Amino acid sequence: MKIVLLGAPGAGKGTQAEVLVKKLFLPHISTGDMFRAAISAGTDLGLEAKSYMDKGQLVPDEVTVGIIKDRISQADCREGFLLDGFPRTLAQAEALDTLLAEMKTSLTAVLNISVPADRLITRLTGRRMCRQCGAIYHLLYNAPQKENVCDVCGGELYQRSDDKEETVRNRLKVYETQTAPLIAYYQEKGLLHEINGDQPINEVMVELGQALGQKWS
Ligand code: ADP
Ligand code: ADP
Ligand code: ZN
Repeated sequence: MKIVLLGAPGAGKGTQAEVLVKKLFLPHISTGDMFRAAISAGTDLGLEAKSYMDKGQLVPDEVTVGIIKDRISQADCREGFLLDGFPRTLAQAEALDTLLAEMKTSLTAVLNISVPADRLITRLTGRRMCRQCGAIYHLLYNAPQKENVCDVCGGELYQRSDDKEETVRNRLKVYETQTAPLIAYYQEKGLLHEINGDQPINEVMVELGQALGQKWS
């Protein structure tokens, strides 16, 4: 299966992706995680990406499409993958279609996780991530057992610098203008499934399973 998870920042893409890829045995491809890894490694890509991410802007399409092209042409993506946070612009969506056509394949499904805008700010400002394994938590909605410690690996939790309220507001504006048009784009292609993201994490997972024709609960 070749799946795209669509949704505003804070909709729950990363949270669902962590579980979905284990159930479906797919590589998890998150452009945000790839950029954060490049920043930690101090590469040129990281330096460039950071200058946009800190302002809540999108990294330019050429750069983002380039890293996706390299990633999905790797052998582990031949049978399928889960894209989380890509595409985020119409140009990226078109580039993805071209890339997949060249590989003689196409997308299986696009899952749009929707959450009312007024919920997204509290989701993002309360988000905490594990420095070591990238696991996602929320201070109120998905708190770790022990404050500031990752349940999975014992790593330290931190707040992403772009999850401060000021940057969050900018990211939500960028989503509305640049990413939201992808909903109509994939609807026209008959690939879109609407998922109600404004319910408990487990229930969102059930809906995702139904959309993908999987019988898990
Ligand atoms: P995205 O990848 O779409 O930006 P995340 O998966 O990182 O979103 O989730 C954003 C924040 O909201 C995180 O703190 C996460 O723990 C929390 N969250 C995710 N799904 C839900 C949900 N269904 N209900 C409440 N909080 C959620
Ligand atoms: P969230 O889901 O909370 O918005 P991500 O981790 O997916 O966060 O992305 C963090 C940042 O990385 C984005 O605000 C943007 O600057 C950059 N980024 C991630 N994916 C893309 C993309 N497909 N195109 C351009 N920039 C991206
Ligand atoms: Zn961890």
